[in-house]
Amino acid sequence: MRCLVISDIHSNLEAFEAVLSHAGPVDCTWCLGDLVGYGPDPNACVDLLRSRAHLCVAGNHDWAALGKLDLAEFNVDARLAAVWTQDNLTPENRAFLEALPKELPGPAPETFWLVHGSPCHPIWEYILDERSAVAAFRCADAAYCLHGHTHVPIVIRQAAQKGRERVTWAQPSGEPIALGPERMLINPGSVGQPRDGDNRASYLILDADALLIEHRRVEYPYQRTQSKMLSRGLPPRLATRLAFGL
Ligand code: ZN
Repeated sequence: MRCLVISDIHSNLEAFEAVLSHAGPVDCTWCLGDLVGYGPDPNACVDLLRSRAHLCVAGNHDWAALGKLDLAEFNVDARLAAVWTQDNLTPENRAFLEALPKELPGPAPETFWLVHGSPCHPIWEYILDERSAVAAFRCADAAYCLHGHTHVPIVIRQAAQKGRERVTWAQPSGEPIALGPERMLINPGSVGQPRDGDNRASYLILDADALLIEHRRVEYPYQRTQSKMLSRGLPPRLATRLAFGL
């Protein structure tokens, strides 16, 4: 079984389409939240995901677009984009986002677990440092937890050392990575707003039979996304950052 694992599409249709065509045929699509927010095409992105067999969990920007989060917790640009998204979502897509769970098991629950932020706090928590990674391993039951939210592709392994809980971090190089033998936290990076200094859309292919993952990047016409954002009155800073992957 070959699965496309994506996260943080953020209403960026050009990036999402580029990822789907670059990934080629897959047996499943797993989405780790933040379908909407920031970008100019929330409905087209939700429609495109809904047109495929998929598993999907909710992210903080999905909740913001539904009015389920206090927007005071967002910075001013994210807040403006969330309000714009609230005003532009169709009732059908709003209902779709409303129905997204906070976390989901993969087909084998003891093997894969899907969340947006972390298994401890699925909507909001960032796995950014050793403390949050160690806690995430304690909260997760599955061997491999797939998560997004930071917009940075990463592989974190659990490494017990003389009884102390430790983790090791690796930035994926694009080469296939074998799953295990340690438990792992795996972030595919962001489709629609990468933040690791690389402006290409980021995603992951999971071969669930061979137990291999492969992080991939693909260029997309971000200038088209930028001009749509500006013509729809979204904050210019959100458009500018797409060119830099920041
Ligand atoms: Zn996000």
